[in-house]
Amino acid sequence: MLNYGKCTNIGICNKANTSELILIVNPKFKCPECDDELSFAAPKESSTLQKALPIALILCIMGLGGFWMLNSKKIASTSAQVTKTTHLKTQLTEKK
Ligand SMILES: [Zn+2]
Repeated sequence: MLNYGKCTNIGICNKANTSELILIVNPKFKCPECDDELSFAAPKESSTLQKALPIALILCIMGLGGFWMLNSKKIASTSAQVTKTTHLKTQLTEKK
């Protein structure tokens, strides 16, 4: 994997002013322009992950939707029971 660094010498170094990503080819981890230490920056490859993430999210939602469709009958009967219980509770409070 390629490593990228960013120079933090803003105002002094042009590479820092333009927030340019510097590819680290040597183990020194230093800016080629001002020779200052670079701060680690995420490699460009991460954008692929950022694109894949929403797709994964959609697939996850679709999966949940399918699961809900399969269990909708079960959920409906459960909610009916809940309504019955709530109704009973309301009747009890009305009696008081
Ligand atoms: Zn620099």
